[in-house]
This record gives sequence, C-alpha cells and structure tokens, in this order.
Amino acid sequence: MTAYPHLLAPLDLGHTTLPNRVVMGSMHTGLEDHARDFGKLAAYFAERARGGAGLMITGGFSPSIEGSFYPLASKLTTRREAREHRVITEAVHAAGGRIALQILHAGRYGYTPWCVSASAVKSPISRFSPRALSERGVRRTINNFARAAQLARIAGYDGVEIMGSEGYLINQFLAPRTNKRTDAWGGSPENRRRFAVETVRAVREAVGPDFIVVYRISVLDLVEDGQTWEEVAALAGEVERAGASILNLGIGWHEARVPTIVTSVPRAAFAEYAARLKTVTSLPVVATNRINTPEVAEGILASGGADLVSLARPFLADPAWVRKAQEDRADEINTCIACNQACLDHTFVKERATCLVNPRAGYETELVLGPTQRVKHVAVVGAGPAGLAAATSLAERGHRVELFEAGDDIGGQFALAMRIPGKEEFAETIRYFRRQLDIKDVKVHLGHRVEPDELVDGGFDEVVVATGVEPRVPAIEGADHPSVMTYAQLISGERVAGGRVAVIGAGGIGVDVCEFLTTTHSPTLDVQEWKAEWGVGDPAQDRGGLTRPAPSPSPRQVFLLQRKPTSIGKGLGKTTGWVHRANLKMKGVEQITGVTAYEKVDDDGLHLRIGESGERRVLAVDSIILCAGQESVRTLSDALSARGVSAHVIGGAEVAAELDAKRAIRQGTELAARL
Ligand code: FAD
Ligand code: NAP
Ligand code: SF4
Repeated sequence: MTAYPHLLAPLDLGHTTLPNRVVMGSMHTGLEDHARDFGKLAAYFAERARGGAGLMITGGFSPSIEGSFYPLASKLTTRREAREHRVITEAVHAAGGRIALQILHAGRYGYTPWCVSASAVKSPISRFSPRALSERGVRRTINNFARAAQLARIAGYDGVEIMGSEGYLINQFLAPRTNKRTDAWGGSPENRRRFAVETVRAVREAVGPDFIVVYRISVLDLVEDGQTWEEVAALAGEVERAGASILNLGIGWHEARVPTIVTSVPRAAFAEYAARLKTVTSLPVVATNRINTPEVAEGILASGGADLVSLARPFLADPAWVRKAQEDRADEINTCIACNQACLDHTFVKERATCLVNPRAGYETELVLGPTQRVKHVAVVGAGPAGLAAATSLAERGHRVELFEAGDDIGGQFALAMRIPGKEEFAETIRYFRRQLDIKDVKVHLGHRVEPDELVDGGFDEVVVATGVEPRVPAIEGADHPSVMTYAQLISGERVAGGRVAVIGAGGIGVDVCEFLTTTHSPTLDVQEWKAEWGVGDPAQDRGGLTRPAPSPSPRQVFLLQRKPTSIGKGLGKTTGWVHRANLKMKGVEQITGVTAYEKVDDDGLHLRIGESGERRVLAVDSIILCAGQESVRTLSDALSARGVSAHVIGGAEVAAELDAKRAIRQGTELAARL
C-alpha cells in the first residue's frame, strides 16, 4: 500500500511505459552551453534518475543559432553535437531513467542582435528588436526543429519536448500580441497556430512513431493580447492530430506581470487549467507550477485533473523526491521553497544553477559528502541554517555530532522568515532539517546557550561556531522610545505594531516586514483570493487570462525608508524583486528614499531629513520597526580565539554583510565535506 497510488502508477504511452507520473520539468542549469560540462550534467541527471523521476526533460537547446538565448548558448544542430550528448543519455539509461531533450527557439527573447520573431515587435524585457521571419525563414525554422529532434534521437534521448509556451518563438506566432503577419502564418487564429502545428508534424515525421514528443502548450499567456481559451483548445486538438504524445502545460510569458512560480504563489495554483485541457484532448496532460509535495501531486492526479505532474525546481532541492515518496518517507523530502535564489536568479546572471536548500545540485561531482575516514566528535553551536546544514551533513558523513541552540527551537532567523505572509514554504526547510537531525542521530541541546568553557572542556575534536546574527540597532536619538522595536520583536510576536508604522531600512527584511504589516491574512493560502489579488481571470472571457487586479487593502499606513537615493528593492532577487515591489505598490506603502538623517524619535514620531536640501519631515507614527541590517554574534568565537581554541566560524557569525540562507547553508555543507 502506498499513500500515493496515482502518483506512482505507470503510464503506458504505447511504444514505452513511464514508471510513474512524475516529470522533471526543463531547467537551464548553465551546464548545457559547453560540451566540456556534459560530464557534470550527466552526473546531475543520473542522480535524479536514480531518485526515481519518471521522465526528465533537459534545459532548452536551440534548433539554430538564431534561436539561441544568447551568443554561444546551448544548441543542437549537428551530428557532432549530438554525439557529445551520449555521455548524458548513457548515464541516465544506466541509472534506469528516461530523458527527453527540450527544443527551444527563443524568438524575440533571444538576447542577440540576430533574434527573430513572427513579427518585428520588441519584447519589453529585451533590448534587442527581432527581425520578422520571412516565409522561407519560417519553413527553414520548422525544418530546424525537425533536424534537432532527429539529432536528439541519434544522441540517445527517449524523446523531445517542443517548447511552445512561456512567450518563446512558437508562442510568439500563436498570440496576436506578437503576430501581426498577414500571410499564411498570421491573421486568423488558424494561421497563427500553423507554425506550432507544422512544427509538431515535422518533428513527428522526423523521429518516427516510437519516440516521445511532448508539446509544451501555453494555456494561460497572462499578457495582453494573449490567446483565448477557445484558441488554446483548438491548438490542443491540432497538435494532438499532428503527432504529439503528451501535452505539458506552460503558464505565463516571461514578460507577464503576474507571478507564476515564486514562493507567494499558492501551491498548485494553476492545476485547474490542466483539468480544463483534459476535457478537449485525449493526450496525457501534465499539470505544472508550484507542485512541490507528493500530497499536492497525488491530490491533482487523484481528482482526475491531470495524468502527470511536472516538478522542476523540487528536483534541484531533492533528487530523490520520487524515491522518498515510494518508500513512504515524504517527511524526509528536502522541499523546494520556491525562493528562486540559487536557481533562476543564477541563470539570469549566467551563473550555474544550484539550490538554496541543496547546494549539491549542479555540483554533484564537486561537493561530495562521502563517508568519513576518521569519525570525529563535533560540536556545532547555533541551529540556524548554517549550523543545521553543518550538523546534518557532518552526521551524514558518519561524524558524531552535538548541536547546541540557545533558543527553544531550531531555525534561527529562518524561523522568522517563515512567518512572513507568502513565505510559509520556508517552514518546510525547518521540517526537513528537524527530521534529518532525528534520522542521523544528532544530539540536539535546545535552550542551551554555549559558554566557551564547555567547548574547551567538552573533549570535542572540532568546534563549529554558527551563532548567526542579531538586528542592528542604529544610533538614533530616542532609539529606546517605546514606539521603537526590532524586526525580530515584531515578527516573533513579542511586540505588536500600531496603525501607522515607519520601517527603517528597505533591504530584504524591510520589504518582508512591510508585507507582514500590510497583510491581514496570507492570500498564498487561498488560490481564488490570490488570483483576484493579481488579476488572473478566465481566458475564456479575457484574452490571455488577465483581468483587473483587486488587492485587499492594508490594515495599516506604512512608510518604508532608506538612505540610498536609488529606488527601493534594487538589491532583491532578479526574479522575485519585481513581485515584492508590485506588492508594496498594491498595499499603498509610501516609499521614502534619500533619507539623509534619522534625527530622533519622540512622542511626535520619527524626525527625518530628506534629500540634498535636508528638508525636515516628521512622520507621526505609532511604531518604528528597525530593519537596518544585522551584526554578527561573535562573543563565542572571539572568546574561543582569545583562549587559543581554533573553531570553524560559518554563516552570519563569520560575516553579516550580504548574508542570506543560501550562503549559510552552502558554507555549512562545504565545511562538512572538508572535515
Ligand atoms: P542565524 O539564523 O542567526 O542562526 C544562529 C543561531 O545561533 C540562532 O538560532 C541563535 O539562537 C543561535 N546562537 C547564537 N549564539 C548561541 C550560543 N552561544 N549558543 C547556542 N546557540 C547560539 N534569507 C534568504 O536566503 N532568503 C530569504 O528570503 C530570507 N528571508 C528572510 C526574512 C526574514 C524576516 C529574516 C529575519 C531573515 C531572512 N533571511 C532570508 C535571512 C536568513 O534567515 C539568514 O541569512 C540565515 O538565517 C542566517 O543563518 P545563520 O545560521 O548564519 O544564522
Ligand atoms: P540589508 O539588505 O543589508 O538591508 C539593510 C537596510 O538597512 C538597507 O536598506 C540599508 O539601506 C539600511 N541600513 C543599514 N545600516 C543602517 C543604519 N545604520 N541606519 C539606518 N539604516 C541602515 O539587510 P536585511 O534587510 O537585514 O536582510 C538581511 C539579509 O537577509 C539580506 O542580505 C538578504 O539577502 C536576506 N534576505 C533575503 C530576502 C529575499 O527575499 N531574498 C528577504 C529577506 C532577507 P540604507 O543604508 O540605504 O538606508
Ligand atoms: Fe527551489 Fe529555492 Fe532551491 Fe530554486 S533555490 S530549487 S526555488 S529551494
């Protein structure tokens, strides 16, 4: 008996059978661009094949140079390139897995001067204007897709995925937003669909009947002048007749102003579109976006709303996601918290994608936690992300570990993060570490503030200091006024804010605190409420599925302040910052930049000077929240070094500036790999 009978059921595709209903969705890791990295890519996919993924899909490979993401980006255009892929396909097959290659033509999203599209309409998120493909160019591009598919077969792949969503070339042909053509490839909905349908037909002809052809269909463009539901349904039928084997859902173009995958998007928020698609096709349909636990996946499949589920980032977070579900160990899954910090944010700056909660992702051959040759007795002080990663990874290697935490629970600052509306997922990381501590027999001492003597006399072979950070209290006259509190006091519930609030400091925590102050209850927990807030409508009524956003009003008036004259939120993640900035606007947070002095706090409120002129302003607020950065907690490490005891200092205890959980967890894991 399993708790996930639908998730773990095989799927017969006629010429082959998938062992379960879990597809590892396509992700560009940065290892696709050069064949010299294919060994690393092979290890990455093989680990996930061993972890039980039913079908894996590679990052996108362009069928031509003009379809590339950027100069020298991944492409599959020659037999020589195809041969270079064999190391990947052989490793996957040896591990018992199946893998399909994604063919992606970026169209106007190509960050190159030679990019092309259906029409010469520039994307708002690119600085390059595309050239409209000529009719010959359209035919040539279709042939290129077919050639790439044929090469994928030669390379040993089990199938291909044709990328038809997310606003890439095929999607650009489909939507009136970008297709202004008047020839046979534009104008009427049938003509706009022709490029997609002909591409699928050509691919099927090129690969023969016994090869998986997934078509990624954009069911919800989430941009103005996107497709209607009627058009999407007609496309599904035509693509099916043209020879696709599976329809995988795509949600939202990259330029959409509605979040589709960040952590504040409710789990399975878009599953209903899979169910709707199933009513118009007999092909297996894959539900996608924010499916990160076996329970959620099983729920979608059991309701008949989809035939498969696609998880992408959750496979970075835990390669053994499926195996743990099979073995009834779902509570051991390292859950993707949808932060984007180490995956998509890396991709956008051309850094290798990895994972905040699993720094081994993409580094399988470089960051290895093999069994230790010499078992050591290790003290780890501090159970924030750095200490938790160090303690659990050390124990995994076979060391004898004791973890000391001054607070009454594990988590450190991360336990505050999970209380922010929209960041509820962060609790999963703490759940994961708690379970790992238990399984790996780490001796945990809660409510135990470690003094240096204990470590000196404790007989430990190694000491790891991960005592983290504490909020900085800036030197402002009246900082001890009763209206002033730190972010930690506010979020932990120790103090409560009034109706008018000033937030000092607009980094990640200042912005989070604004969300905390302006939200009565988290819309992340209710799909329909979240959709209304962001203006996700019904594509049967509104083209592209966009309607007017209806944010729920803030219960407080909030001012967010920083000294820098630059606009707020510049330092936030590339793929998440815009969501936070949009939220601040929706909630009416007044943003004040260029504060030259926080002069004082008194019963009248917060006294400021602003701008070069030094204009004075008094904010008559009831509460002032300090989010002015953090300082390292170094009392223990300083005392140890004064006694000549050497310790490994990691995370915020080492350096507070630009600290985040990504660095803390990576440092803890890397240290454990070395000791
Ligand atoms: P800490 O988390 O500070 O943990 C240190 C631990 O050591 C604490 O539990 C403390 O009690 C314990 N300790 C200290 N001294 C002793 C002692 N002598 N004996 C025993 N125990 C001791 N990061 C992100 O990457 N992404 C985010 O989205 C994000 N959002 C955040 C939102 C909020 C509201 C907050 C507050 C933080 C957020 N962070 C985020 C930051 C992230 O939580 C921190 O960077 C991370 O927790 C730092 O980890 P650490 O282990 O170094 O230190
Ligand atoms: P931060 O990003 O360094 O921001 C601190 C803010 O305080 C800045 O706006 C700074 O701007 C201001 N400040 C600094 N010193 C000050 C002083 N003496 N007086 C008044 N203002 C001062 O730090 P944070 O917001 O505390 O966040 C800590 C870490 O957590 C960050 O590094 C971040 O990576 C992580 N985090 C990430 C996320 C995320 O979504 N990815 C969310 C939350 C936290 P001015 O100097 O211009 O005023
Ligand atoms: Fe998920 Fe964050 Fe890891 Fe990306 S970095 S896979 S979003 S947990």
